[in-house]
Amino acid sequence: MLQFFKGVKTTTFSLLMASLCFTLLNYFPQVWTPWLSVIDMLLPITLVVTAIFAAYFNHSRITLLAGVLLVLSLSEKFALPWSQWLVQNETWVVLNNLFLLVGLSFLKDRGLLSIHGLHRLVVLAVIAGLAYGWLHFDAWVLNLTKQGELGSFQFLAPWLHYLLTVIPCSVVLLILFCRSITQASSFSAALLNTCLLFIAEHYYYISFPWEINYFIFALYYLLVVIVDSYFLAYRDDLTGLPSRRALNQLALSLGRKYTVAMLDIDHFKKFNDTFGHDIGDQVLKLVAARIGEVKGGGKAFRYGGEEFTVVFPRKNHDQVIEALETVRQTIADYAVTIRNPVRSNKQDRKDSVRMGTKQVRVTISIGVASRKNKQEFSEVLKGADQALYRAKNKGRNNVSK
Ligand code: GH3
Ligand code: MG
Ligand code: MG
Repeated sequence: MLQFFKGVKTTTFSLLMASLCFTLLNYFPQVWTPWLSVIDMLLPITLVVTAIFAAYFNHSRITLLAGVLLVLSLSEKFALPWSQWLVQNETWVVLNNLFLLVGLSFLKDRGLLSIHGLHRLVVLAVIAGLAYGWLHFDAWVLNLTKQGELGSFQFLAPWLHYLLTVIPCSVVLLILFCRSITQASSFSAALLNTCLLFIAEHYYYISFPWEINYFIFALYYLLVVIVDSYFLAYRDDLTGLPSRRALNQLALSLGRKYTVAMLDIDHFKKFNDTFGHDIGDQVLKLVAARIGEVKGGGKAFRYGGEEFTVVFPRKNHDQVIEALETVRQTIADYAVTIRNPVRSNKQDRKDSVRMGTKQVRVTISIGVASRKNKQEFSEVLKGADQALYRAKNKGRNNVSK
């Protein structure tokens, strides 16, 4: 459910940004028109930089996309051996581009300079063949219609002029929209926006020079690589919370007064042993989500394993206790529903199948320390860790200082 809302948010945001960008282009042509020749010159450079940058940061799908746009733009600009064929077969280009976007949305980012690179080339060739096949399929069906040979499918005849592009455009748009919502990534949203661009260009809904469109999208892909790389470095993959690296970064910008809390899930090893690592991961995510909602100006991080850190800038111990108590209580009250828990022996496994679901609870212990006597961040963190140790010794599920 959380993923769904994230998907809606990412998709809506990127659609709004793209619309805003093209609306501005539309209303202020005097801003970009004088720069057209410069943009024309910059386009191949930007696409090459984007492709290399994306490859370096393991975004091989963006490399492929930028590569295809580069080939198309160079074919349009120079009389390459295939340029004439592309001009005569504009519909093939549209279909190929649309099918490519769907293909990319299902591929994974894998190193191009490996066997996967070869696999990607095969996929590109298959997509090009499919687009070509679709053109011929359309021509064959239309031929049958003319000769009145559709038989019992004759009732489809009035709809057949939609077969060539309208139906593929709609289906591809739908697939990419669903992928963007379910995957909630900036890349899948970029694919959806690219699809809209190709469709808008094909049906002349927008009439900007193609260099402008491609240039904006090259910059867009570059932005996706930068933003994704940032999240990769500073976000924890499992919980979505900022990582320890982000904590170290924050530590550099803290003032003289702040409080640090270390939070640790109680008996989590036993939990994993009882229910399995996968369910352990799910619980870790749920606990992280509650910790991420901490009030009182706290910033939550995954410190590592089942340990979290919350930093309260400009706050002392007394000002944060209530917020931490609320987090501890919320987690202790939260009944996690587990489906078919893994049990250690056969009889237990039978029971679990009969039970179907089971409700379990987890608790956390919290140690708090405020900065005093010009301490370094690492010393305050150590103080919070020692306080956590005391919380564990006091019987767990409590906040100690
Ligand atoms: P205590 O109450 O003293 O904290 O007991 P504990 O079992 O939680 O403490 P310990 O540090 O011995 O064990 C931590 C366990 O957390 C070990 C490991 O199985 C589990 N763990 C750490 N990281 C992950 C993770 O990413 N996923 C899952 N499922 N388990 C993890
Ligand atoms: Mg621990
Ligand atoms: Mg623990």
